[in-house]
Amino acid sequence: MAKPPDLTKKPASFAVDKQPLREEEQLLKAFFESSPIPAFVIGKDRRIIYWNGALEKMSGIMAEDVIGSKDHWKAFYHEYRPTMADLIVDERQDEIPYWYPDKYKKSDLIEDAYEATDFFPALEDKGKWLRFTASALKGSTGTLIGAVETLEDITGRKLAEDALRESEARYRTLSITDALTGLYNSRHFYDQIRLEIERADRYGHPLSLLLLDIDNFKKFNDSYGHLEGDVVLVRLGEVIRRCLRKTDSAYRFGGEEFTVILPETTGDAATILAERIREEFENEGFYPLGGEEAVHKTVSIGVAQYISQEELRMFLKRVDSNMYRAKRQGKNRVFYGKR
Ligand code: GH3
Ligand code: MG
Ligand code: MG
Repeated sequence: MAKPPDLTKKPASFAVDKQPLREEEQLLKAFFESSPIPAFVIGKDRRIIYWNGALEKMSGIMAEDVIGSKDHWKAFYHEYRPTMADLIVDERQDEIPYWYPDKYKKSDLIEDAYEATDFFPALEDKGKWLRFTASALKGSTGTLIGAVETLEDITGRKLAEDALRESEARYRTLSITDALTGLYNSRHFYDQIRLEIERADRYGHPLSLLLLDIDNFKKFNDSYGHLEGDVVLVRLGEVIRRCLRKTDSAYRFGGEEFTVILPETTGDAATILAERIREEFENEGFYPLGGEEAVHKTVSIGVAQYISQEELRMFLKRVDSNMYRAKRQGKNRVFYGKR
């Protein structure tokens, strides 16, 4: 195999002096030049030896303006800082984690080589995402003689990945959200209540549930129409949301029924919160088309505290029958039955 050229020597090429190149050097230069991957080589003294056409194109910096200088950082940063190649030729690999925190890894393929992905705000107007590699160049005796760095603009791929991730997140949000009220839907309710029951069983902490049902809602719909009824549902959603604490979550369980999961909350504390929702909702005024003056709606609320090891079905049944007790006792009230 041909011996690699000694890169520590002032390079023949590259506009430094005009002596003819040896054949291997020409081959190497041609390989480097024809590569569509932007790349540069620095010597042990950090001076630039090669700067290929693809890098000229990417950085807007011409080889003839930088070869022999230590200005390669200017292609990537507004202010001086070492590049990965500098850290390698200075044998300061231990500083790589400092300059590229959580962004680099050692190459799986070869020794003394690193790869990293980072955002470079100084590149063009909006900055660019680059994937880059840097590896040590060694002479025939194994001594370090320089480093090569290759760069790849992955901004397009990165933006596409971000867009995909965003649309997945949006889809997930939609799939657990009730379109009318913006609260969570019943599918998410079942997922969450199962999780909370598991947690309550594991830690022996209290867990409570509210079930809300609008009073005489059919009559309201019959009088003013379904669309005006929807306004009431939206408003109840807003009132609930306003009354909740950070760890509580609210769901549109079905038609005009809502649930609220209250982790770390006893039935007595849940009753106080339910009472606040009931009262705030009662004070809301509605002005449906076809109505003369403000109409007030009310809600009946059942409260239940989870009993350790109870089946979900039983827990739901209890909160439902508590809600019906509130209805039977005259509606517009909260009923907390302990068993
Ligand atoms: P109660 O006080 O006993 O709860 O009486 P109610 O009239 O509220 O109860 P009922 O179960 O008889 O009627 C519930 C009504 O809720 C029936 C339906 O018209 C209405 N409803 C259910 N889902 C929606 C919805 O998405 N939009 C509107 N506008 N109304 C709905
Ligand atoms: Mg109902
Ligand atoms: Mg109802």
